[in-house]
Amino acid sequence: MIRFEGVRKTFGATRALDGLDLEVPEGAFAVLLGGSGAGKSTALRTVNRLIDPDAGRVLLRGRDVAQEEAPTLRRRIGYVIQGIGLFPHWTVARNIGAVPRLLGWEDRRIAARVDELLALLRLDPSAYRDRMPAQLSGGQAQRIGVARALAAGPDILLMDEPFGALDAITRQAMQQEMARLHAATGKTILLVTHDVDEAFSLATQLCVMAEGRLLQAGTPRELLDAP
Ligand code: ADP
Ligand code: ADP
Repeated sequence: MIRFEGVRKTFGATRALDGLDLEVPEGAFAVLLGGSGAGKSTALRTVNRLIDPDAGRVLLRGRDVAQEEAPTLRRRIGYVIQGIGLFPHWTVARNIGAVPRLLGWEDRRIAARVDELLALLRLDPSAYRDRMPAQLSGGQAQRIGVARALAAGPDILLMDEPFGALDAITRQAMQQEMARLHAATGKTILLVTHDVDEAFSLATQLCVMAEGRLLQAGTPRELLDAP
């Protein structure tokens, strides 16, 4: 599904990625775990071409992402970051429907999709579709961010420390929500975190990074049993 082959990226004197090799199978909930500066965010951003590698390549379903137009590519890839950045003057529905609208979907189809996604994220559509972002709790805003990333039916979902800005209790609720969402949709998810507990609780494939490389990858069980 996603394959990193010898991916290198240098910023000035910093080697952010130093030959990253990694394969994420279709339908996996893959978690990149590592300390600050390990290269996790850089790796994630090479997938949707917010960053282009200096060397190596990234394949999505067998196709080199470098061969695709970045805007076209990004419509197939949901992206969720910390402190999600909803447009404050748009309703929840308008925020979630932003990409489908760009793609020229009919209004009725967008409205149905918005309601479907609100229900999937367990927010009552009639209560939430017309709210403004300022009327949402942190956890709810993050759910809307996830719904927005899923709106156009992406092949994969990239999440960069998505719950880092939330309090501990809300973060735990969102982790459960993501596990449920993954089970319900079977979507391939690649999530970046420095939180060991989060990584072990969510991952079907746990990928430990340090100094721009993969240290270890496997199921959480395999990594716990490793010598
Ligand atoms: P992580 O997500 O694991 O914390 P990053 O991928 O964000 O790591 O960063 C890896 C290294 O590359 C760090 O040393 C970081 O400071 C550096 N880096 C990342 N992005 C840039 C950038 N745009 N300009 C300069 N240095 C960067
Ligand atoms: P979550 O667990 O999803 O983060 P909270 O427990 O923080 O939700 O929020 C509790 C309730 O308070 C929610 O139903 C939410 O709609 C409401 N709420 C939070 N902030 C606001 C706000 N600024 N305006 C209106 N309602 C709010």
